[in-house]
Amino acid sequence: MDTAGPPKALLIDLDGVLYVGNDPVDGAAEAAHWIAQQRIPHLYVTNTTSRPRSALVERLAGFGIETDASDILTPPVAAVSWLGENAPGPVALFVPSATRPEFDALEILDDEANEGAAAVVIGDLGHAWDFATLNRAFRLLMCDPAPALVALGMTRYWRSADGLQLDVAPFVVALEHACGCKATVLGKPAEPFFATALRILDAPSEAVVMIGDDIVGDVGGAQSAGIRGVLVRTGKYRPKDLEGTIEPEAVLDSFAGLPAWWKAQA
Ligand SMILES: [Mg+2]
Repeated sequence: MDTAGPPKALLIDLDGVLYVGNDPVDGAAEAAHWIAQQRIPHLYVTNTTSRPRSALVERLAGFGIETDASDILTPPVAAVSWLGENAPGPVALFVPSATRPEFDALEILDDEANEGAAAVVIGDLGHAWDFATLNRAFRLLMCDPAPALVALGMTRYWRSADGLQLDVAPFVVALEHACGCKATVLGKPAEPFFATALRILDAPSEAVVMIGDDIVGDVGGAQSAGIRGVLVRTGKYRPKDLEGTIEPEAVLDSFAGLPAWWKAQA
């Protein structure tokens, strides 16, 4: 079944793979250490947009996993890479303040401007959304030439301490509907996110394995970009995940089993 040859590089999901909530997955730090020791090219990929990479590096260090910010691909980082290639020019940011520094390398449009954007980037603004803010994004998108609409993921909602909350997707869909345009999504499972990961790894899709706990976001998303997907039975994994149409390359009890599986592929 496997005609692609042994894998050469890894994409690794964070939440549910290396840790679940505040608890590290048993053996995950040792597996991550093995990957680094073997010099296997790898990138940690996450849909998290609420914290900058420096905070993720600290969090991983707390679980005994040494990383560098450059080893982590988040939707804002993928967006910066994508924008540099596809939409050069001033960028209008609709992202939380904690996320803004990730865009420092780009020219940022003034926060009051209603025109002149090469791209409009929508993140999870949460309580900062109001009519005027959403309408400014709409006005920018209606300019001629039309700027690119970029979404930092398409999560519909999430559960906060006081209940369910709208995430980024409902606002992106409202803008798409109003403008008659389609957003480029830079988050799992969208193809441009995985394409950006491949560009950073400088590896062909068939040489790369994605490992994650989300059958759709991790395994299905990777497969639609030509990347092999391996599922772990930790985090959000449920046995019924394997009853659908997405068939992982392998299913591991946890990330701790990755080194043994990798060696068996050689
Ligand atoms: Mg996950």
